Amino acid sequence: MIIVMKTGATEAQIQGVIAEIHKAGLREHLSRGAELTLIGAIGDEDKLDAAHLEILPGVARVNRITKPYKIVSRDTHPAGSVIRVRGIPIGGEQIQVIGGPCSVETPEQMALSAQAVAAAGCRMMRGGAFKPRTSPYAFQGLGVQGLEYLQQSARQHNLPIVTELMDVRMLDTFMEYDVDVIQIGARNMQNFDLLKEVGRVNKPVILKRGLSATVSEWLMSAEYIAAGGNHNIIFCERGIRTFETAYRNVLDVTAIPVLKRETHLPVIVDPSHAGGKAWMVPALAQAAVAAGADGLLIEMHPNPCEAWCDADQALTPEELNALMKTLGAIATAVGRSL
Ligand code: PEP
Ligand code: MN
Repeated sequence: MIIVMKTGATEAQIQGVIAEIHKAGLREHLSRGAELTLIGAIGDEDKLDAAHLEILPGVARVNRITKPYKIVSRDTHPAGSVIRVRGIPIGGEQIQVIGGPCSVETPEQMALSAQAVAAAGCRMMRGGAFKPRTSPYAFQGLGVQGLEYLQQSARQHNLPIVTELMDVRMLDTFMEYDVDVIQIGARNMQNFDLLKEVGRVNKPVILKRGLSATVSEWLMSAEYIAAGGNHNIIFCERGIRTFETAYRNVLDVTAIPVLKRETHLPVIVDPSHAGGKAWMVPALAQAAVAAGADGLLIEMHPNPCEAWCDADQALTPEELNALMKTLGAIATAVGRSL
């Protein structure tokens, strides 16, 4: 940690900062420049409280040297991590596409969805049973019944399932229903109690990016899960809120290489919630693969016009099929496979 003193800081103020550094069990390295005095704190930075140092008299600012996230950082694990979901690798050379409807509706809709997802070549299936809706009057998901329909349809095609957990009280039920991947939605990215709880189980977790979360906040949220012992975390970029109103969210393609550099964990992209329109999904999905995403989470409905949730952004089975064909060529161009 480097403590930058204000111009004209007194000797007593400098000694005051050094005393705090010693109190935390660290050593100081003093550098007196012509205008500024810098004090380096040498030792375990986590033992020092930057906010406390910042308010000491004479202190201009405090800069951390190490990153506040550790387990998820690439520094601690330079090689990329590959997470296996019932044997299917996420984060390796092969790109995984998770397809399925926004929400689980009926057994018939789910049977058709699972069939279409498998036929298109996706190796995993999604479907929301607990839906985070903006309006309390909108369809909230089928709940436990939805988990059952999802599980039944996906198992017919041997597809592992991905579904969103909103409430920590449902975690045991998710374990009972053997949900393969727990999705933490954008709105819960900073629900720290929920993150701590999924950190205690050994199921892979897809952590979606919060609507207005910075990359650093997102990494810290992942660290919450990792700190509990669960290191099977997959980041999912799903678009962020900006001043632009022409589409639902802005897909932050830049976040893909940035995250791949910062963390050893896999990064996938959800082009459906980013654009919010089905016609945008192919272009965004292709861009994501070209930029180095390890997978995609794509909404598809057997009959989008009748979808109970996110109808505008759902691909038809035919559109999903056509998209998958284009993704193979892009994957090959960037040294991956589909
Ligand atoms: C979803 O995947 O169905 C969903 C609600 O996504 P997000 O949390 O990204 O809005
Ligand atoms: Mn949706």
